[in-house]
Amino acid sequence: MFDRLTIVGLGLIGSSLARAAKSYGLAKCVVAYDRDTAVRARVKELGISDWIADDIGTAVQDSDFVIVCVPVGATASVARAMSDYLKPGAIISDVGSVKSAVYEAFLENLPQHVHIVPAHPVAGTEYSGPDAGFATLFRDRWCIVTPPSDASPDVVEKVRAFWAACGANVELMSAQHHDLVLAITSHVPHLIAYNIVGTAADLEEVTQSEVIKFSAGGFRDFTRIAASDPTMWRDIFLNNKDAVLEMLGRFNEDLLALQRMIRWGDGQGLFDLFTRTRAIRRSIIEQGQETSAPNFGREKTP
Ligand code: NAP
Repeated sequence: MFDRLTIVGLGLIGSSLARAAKSYGLAKCVVAYDRDTAVRARVKELGISDWIADDIGTAVQDSDFVIVCVPVGATASVARAMSDYLKPGAIISDVGSVKSAVYEAFLENLPQHVHIVPAHPVAGTEYSGPDAGFATLFRDRWCIVTPPSDASPDVVEKVRAFWAACGANVELMSAQHHDLVLAITSHVPHLIAYNIVGTAADLEEVTQSEVIKFSAGGFRDFTRIAASDPTMWRDIFLNNKDAVLEMLGRFNEDLLALQRMIRWGDGQGLFDLFTRTRAIRRSIIEQGQETSAPNFGREKTP
């Protein structure tokens, strides 16, 4: 699909993309670059790219397609560092979990002679680094592409086709809409998990060993989410402030309503809500976005 594809940042997502691009033959040459020398050495050992560059300029020059796979807050500095070396007509994309801020960072720091088409694969795990990646990470997951309104349809189609070839289902939407949708489906749930795990850690009457021992009561599933990378999530909240605060406001109102139902013994209200939420869980399983296996199928059966 491309002569030369460059991936900047070889963590979970970047290394999975390199593996997918190589496995499915999506570029004649897959070039990798990471700022960390240890990561570069590991990528070389793993053999997941055709070539690993020692500096970002060499990595991106002559590339038709550059995908930036770093924490959202690092996008501007990465864009600045590569801007002088980009080939006219090159497509620049990313995988960041926030889209409006990333587009702004690209727009402010990249030359006018490149095409900017941001994207976000809604796929991942709580692990980081090049060893955590795998080629099939994006298979049957959604990838949201957020082209600016003036993007060339041919360029958007190339980005869409690339993600489809990685096995993803692709949906196009505006960056603003993406940020609102992801605030409720991903960002606020992570905030709740970080908060509940933090609250448990600070408890005095219930010991930490009791929290761990009886975690199967629901807490354990929050700890998986709350184990996600601190840098990545700090950047997400700082860069999707408005949408997260809007959704958090609604969440707080609904939580207050639940608090009232418990206080006044409104069993019917609680029952009705839990019945509605159960139906959402069923739809997620039916649409192949989760499994009904015990422990969400994440634990190996003996
Ligand atoms: P990761 O495994 O931690 O990898 C991030 C890579 O970016 C690391 O190699 C890191 O190098 C490098 N990096 C960090 N700061 C940098 C900077 N200032 N300049 C250059 N390189 C820098 O993270 P990831 O999970 O792959 O996430 C990457 C992006 O994917 C994020 O924007 C995230 O929002 C998005 N995303 C993540 C998931 C997920 O579930 N993890 C899902 C969808 C999208 P160092 O080791 O030196 O810091």
